[in-house]
Amino acid sequence: MSDPLPPAAALRRIAFLLERAREPTHRVAAFRTAAAVVDGLGPEELDRRIRTRTLTDLRGIGPKTGAAIVQAHAGEVPEYLARLEEAHAELVPLADDVAGYRAALRGDLHAHSDWSDGGSPIREMAEAALALGHDYLALTDHSPRLTVANGLSPERLERQLDVVAELNEELAPFRVLTGIECDILVDGSLDQTEELLARLDVVVASVHSDLRADSAAMTARMLAAVENPHTDVLGHCTGRLLVPREQREGRRQRPRPESTFDAEAVFGACAAHGTAVEINSRPERLDPPLRLLALALELGCEFAIDTDAHAPGQLDWQGNGCERAVEVGVPVDRVVNTRTAADLLAWTRM
Ligand SMILES: [Zn+2]
Ligand SMILES: [Zn+2]
Repeated sequence: MSDPLPPAAALRRIAFLLERAREPTHRVAAFRTAAAVVDGLGPEELDRRIRTRTLTDLRGIGPKTGAAIVQAHAGEVPEYLARLEEAHAELVPLADDVAGYRAALRGDLHAHSDWSDGGSPIREMAEAALALGHDYLALTDHSPRLTVANGLSPERLERQLDVVAELNEELAPFRVLTGIECDILVDGSLDQTEELLARLDVVVASVHSDLRADSAAMTARMLAAVENPHTDVLGHCTGRLLVPREQREGRRQRPRPESTFDAEAVFGACAAHGTAVEINSRPERLDPPLRLLALALELGCEFAIDTDAHAPGQLDWQGNGCERAVEVGVPVDRVVNTRTAADLLAWTRM
């Protein structure tokens, strides 16, 4: 049994264990939502709510999550968590396994700078990756049609390539890999010119629009992108959001379920065409869900454990993805970002 955790961390731990136990998504989401609410309260307001017994007046906190918060706040392990830990003790991966897995990663293939919707300059992202011990970081800002995320036109991307080349001279042997998180358009084509896609080191292709399309349409769209010779990584494949999140200019995105598609067909194509399936480590994504991760493994896919960082500190989130890879039993040699930069580039150029 672990030591007592602060309330939000205890709620996240509960959500994590519920998910591993394949509990229904809404139950898992309830604990993640409550954790986000606690994060937003601040310590004094949390104290006051607990004292005045008004926690459950807050949207997103119910009797179960409220009780767990009160117990964690009192320095105890919440009963709900204690029961889960006991029931799933044999499933909990050893922290050592996850740490070893993480240590095998040499870089990150999905990150954003302030050129699109990230918060920091390229240099700060690169220096943070360097400080984490990475050998490389792929800079994958958004593509033109994603205007809400300030996607890069071909001209801006060309300019970015020059900036990266200059920075690389300075930071060598560390290397910023040129890249893009390219929208998969509704017809399955990629949202950037052929010429630029061919020049980039890493192309992550992701669906960001029309996420509720029917399964046949979504499958055809994803297959076209996975089979595209420029695509190296299929980004956050289901598009799910587990908790609400803040976006630029105060926009707020609500949680959303997974997109529906023929996962066997899509992962089968990933395996056949050498497109890695991303294990997205963002806490609100954790995409693919474990059952799909297990399916992709079974179908012979390779993986990229990425942070999708939009700020330097988020580059530290790879542990989330490693935890899931360890749990499902992904062999470390199936993870493309355990390779050296030279080996990785030989692979993306194939
Ligand atoms: Zn994305
Ligand atoms: Zn992204």
